[in-house]
Amino acid sequence: MIPVRSNGPLPTVVRVFESLSTNHPLRDWPCPACDEPLGGRDVALVYIGPGPVPSQIEKALSGRWHTGAAVAVHAYCAGVPVAEPQSDAEPRTGVPPGEEEGP
Ligand SMILES: [Zn+2]
Repeated sequence: MIPVRSNGPLPTVVRVFESLSTNHPLRDWPCPACDEPLGGRDVALVYIGPGPVPSQIEKALSGRWHTGAAVAVHAYCAGVPVAEPQSDAEPRTGVPPGEEEGP
């Protein structure tokens, strides 16, 4: 995780999946926010931008539908209202969602 301070909106969640299947290739991947494996918890696809294709960037910048890029992250870590993880899955660094300090 790269900690950043923000008072901006929550990320654009494209879709939320209930726990990944036991043979899903992303199951053992670390969540980009907390570094815990994605498996075993609800996972959100979070839109991060139009990606590297110029035509898709142009569409995105003009507010049109386009094919963009997303990352998989725990739904909880993306701010989706789901059950809190067990205490051993708390973020290792940074400030937990909802407890950010003002400027
Ligand atoms: Zn996470």
